[in-house]
Amino acid sequence: SNFNELGLIPELIARLSDLEYTQPTPIQAKAIPSILAGHDLIAGANTGSGKTATFALPILQKISQGALKRDTKGNYVSALILVPTRELATQVADNVKSYSAHFNGAIKTVAVFGGVSVNTQMQALRGGADIIVATPGRLLDLISSNAIKLDKVNTLVLDEADRLLSLGFTEELANLLALMPAKKQTMLFSATFPEQVKLLTQELLNDPIEIQV
Ligand code: AMP
Repeated sequence: SNFNELGLIPELIARLSDLEYTQPTPIQAKAIPSILAGHDLIAGANTGSGKTATFALPILQKISQGALKRDTKGNYVSALILVPTRELATQVADNVKSYSAHFNGAIKTVAVFGGVSVNTQMQALRGGADIIVATPGRLLDLISSNAIKLDKVNTLVLDEADRLLSLGFTEELANLLALMPAKKQTMLFSATFPEQVKLLTQELLNDPIEIQV
């Protein structure tokens, strides 16, 4: 199969062509049409599977089509991607920005992670963001200082959910989830499915598509 058959818009197809992605990886081929159709997703997938593009491309498409319109009157965010480490936050945000290249700066993506000054991130969040890629602790700090609000999150990704939980973010995750609307599209990616992750999927996902690659 090729990317044209997955229902992606020309701005994304053109970017994938720039990047010389000639065909979708198995997880991309299986998941992208379902995500575009609005389904929740549980995916058993490792780094190297192409999981980042799997969630990033449909999110960008929905934002560019106005389906996930950003409220610029407050510091709101539409799509939230939670990751376990700052390295992953940087890497995922860089990928998302790269995939956005043909939207002429119309989509705002901000990376939020600990270990660096909070001021730059606070400034970046002024007027909100379309997409935030965040580690849980720093995101909670920024919420406490009113730099960002999760009330209008309509798309949530938990990337490397097993590491998110094993790194002891369970409580932070629960606190974050409580701040988001119940009605949203949720995608959970994990290399392994220990009991903790299974419980989380049961709590969080609504009739999800399940994919194992
Ligand atoms: P990930 O599993 O998301 O960490 O992606 C692993 C690597 O594969 C990244 O460097 C991506 O840029 C690259 N990649 C993702 N999808 C494709 C594709 N369809 N064709 C070629 N490379 C890809």
